[in-house]
Amino acid sequence: MSSLPYKRLLLKLSGEVLMGPGQFGIDPETVARVAGEVKAAKDAGYELCLVIGGGNIFRGIAGAARGLDRTTGDYMGMLATIMNALAFQNALEKLGVETRVQSAIPMASVCEPYIRRRAARHLEKGRVVIFAAGTGNPFFTTDSGAALRAAEMNCDALFKGTSVDGVYSADPKKVPDAKRFETVGYDQVLADNLQVMDASAVALCRENNIPIIVFNIREQGNLAKVLRGEGTATTVQASA
Ligand code: UDP
Repeated sequence: MSSLPYKRLLLKLSGEVLMGPGQFGIDPETVARVAGEVKAAKDAGYELCLVIGGGNIFRGIAGAARGLDRTTGDYMGMLATIMNALAFQNALEKLGVETRVQSAIPMASVCEPYIRRRAARHLEKGRVVIFAAGTGNPFFTTDSGAALRAAEMNCDALFKGTSVDGVYSADPKKVPDAKRFETVGYDQVLADNLQVMDASAVALCRENNIPIIVFNIREQGNLAKVLRGEGTATTVQASA
């Protein structure tokens, strides 16, 4: 265990990861595959917190663009993250991984409410804890929820599993010679508005000195590789 650079991790998965090859919703095969990777990380000795987005189902901003009140849309988005959390819990438990879902919006008959001390106890007992409903507040994102829970739960690092293999100097789809950073400072991410997580999430990680490791979770086996320090990823950290 002492050889692991980190002990307690927060893994943030964007909702889109759960879509798999589809354009919307939850693809059970993909969820099962990613759950297998989470199990492997747990078996390697890490304590794991998870935050899953809701973008595969609903985003408040998209609702607002079509005439819905932003706050109503955001609450709908938060409910979407609870659905994703339940799907992921189900997949983990099928693999024999004890898992608890805690929601920032209390939903007593579906999952536990978020209680920090209780979550810590679950982690000590070797359970994976999925934090659902983001921060519980509109006008935030699950990236901010992830940074907040990572700070509250004293996580050593925040791993952001997404569809790109790191942080680039510009959008690699638009700028062919965009450069991928191995490491980049929180300050540069904020000053240059680099696409990592939203600014409030990055600022919270900077304040609490939590490194953010951005990697591609769509690539099979990549979580284990990145945890071993072998995969392609970008680490956002305090500049030297
Ligand atoms: N959301 C919110 N407050 C939060 C977290 C999420 O209002 O603390 C809403 C917001 O509408 C957001 C949606 O939930 O668009 C889904 O979350 P997010 O966009 O972060 O999901 P991801 O992009 O990671 O899939």
